[in-house]
Amino acid sequence: MKNNRKYHLVTFGCQMNVHDSEKIAGILESEDYTETDNPKEADIIIFNTCSIRQKAEQKFYSELGRIKPLKKKKPGLKIAVAGCIAQQEGNRMLKRANFIDHVIGPQNIHVLKDIIKSRPEMIAVGDNPAITEMELPVYRKDPVRAWINIMYGCNNFCSYCIVPYTRGREKSRALESIASEVRKLAGEGYKEVTLLGQNVNSYKSSVNFPGLLKELNDIPGIERIRFVTSHPKDLSNELIFAIKDFDKVCEHIHLPLQSGSSKILKLMNRKYTYEEFLDNVLKLKSEIPEIAITSDIISGFPGETDEDHRCTIHALKEIEFDGIYAFNYSPRPGTKASLMDGHVDDDVKSSRLSEILDLQGNITELKNKRLEEVFQEILIEGFSEKSSSKLTGRTRTNKIVTVPFETQIKQGDLITVKITKAHRHSLEGSTLLRFT
Ligand code: SF4
Repeated sequence: MKNNRKYHLVTFGCQMNVHDSEKIAGILESEDYTETDNPKEADIIIFNTCSIRQKAEQKFYSELGRIKPLKKKKPGLKIAVAGCIAQQEGNRMLKRANFIDHVIGPQNIHVLKDIIKSRPEMIAVGDNPAITEMELPVYRKDPVRAWINIMYGCNNFCSYCIVPYTRGREKSRALESIASEVRKLAGEGYKEVTLLGQNVNSYKSSVNFPGLLKELNDIPGIERIRFVTSHPKDLSNELIFAIKDFDKVCEHIHLPLQSGSSKILKLMNRKYTYEEFLDNVLKLKSEIPEIAITSDIISGFPGETDEDHRCTIHALKEIEFDGIYAFNYSPRPGTKASLMDGHVDDDVKSSRLSEILDLQGNITELKNKRLEEVFQEILIEGFSEKSSSKLTGRTRTNKIVTVPFETQIKQGDLITVKITKAHRHSLEGSTLLRFT
């Protein structure tokens, strides 16, 4: 029976954080807490924070400020800060905002169980080597698609990034632990799994990453396997052939380029040149012609000249990504890049970013147009958020498709559709043939 206690959970940042929030919710639900959208009703408010960009950090502090008066009105209310800002700030956070009760780094989510039972105050930001063995309850709202951690942390130390300092060094989960979670999900009716890690293609346990894909490909019930994020320097031929040969591994890879200038890539400590990146892209396209490649770009990294920016523009035209996430560089305290010379003015960064986004928008639309009249398999995710007369799903290449609602089609179905109209951010399709 539920105990009438409620939690309010606010999540910032990447898929890794979203999945960590599923674990936070899993722990609280297993202790009979119920989620509420209304912070005023909550007995505990948890912020799962992100420090990858200044904006996400500012947003968190402004939300935190709005919550402060609630604590005065309801002294029993607990406020916990989790995620990367918690890890970075530790004790400083309690000094900065003394109404916070708990500070929990991303490697220490498990302590929540203690917190809600007894501990009045706790800072848990230490390294946790046992993280790969912890089987925490996960509260997933999506009944069809599931995220699964296969590894934690990162060893790459890109000069702009705070993650290796907040999430620690790379640690891979054992193959059997991942496979048993996937088998369990298949038994619960899940159709798609996305394997999560900062750098999944450096996964290493009794098998390497392609070996893991091979094992998971054999699990009955799961129809699609995706993974994020891959580091370009670790993209092996073996992985390219795994995507090509294993039928459940989807033809989509997110491969962050960050800059088209090899000089800037070196300053970023990315450990590949633009030419090496391009070589990987050409191999992917030649082995898997239908593959979708998406990427990340940082505009205005320290030292970026107009010429370097032109290299990025050239790269976008040459590669034709299916989509990108592009952001202005924002200095993160504690990173090497924040101490570099040659910081670029904000207005220059923004005008370069606009050019990048405009160009990529046109490329994405053009690539989507090429899919008109083409048949695609989509996995139905549910009703479209925009219209209850439409269903929405994704192609194997991760493109969103809306189709007219039909009573015989349900969430989790794999159907073949004909793409009838392409837009910049989505596709429309008509249902013709059902095959599961
Ligand atoms: S690969 Fe680079 S950008 Fe990605 S998490 Fe590791 S250090 Fe950060």
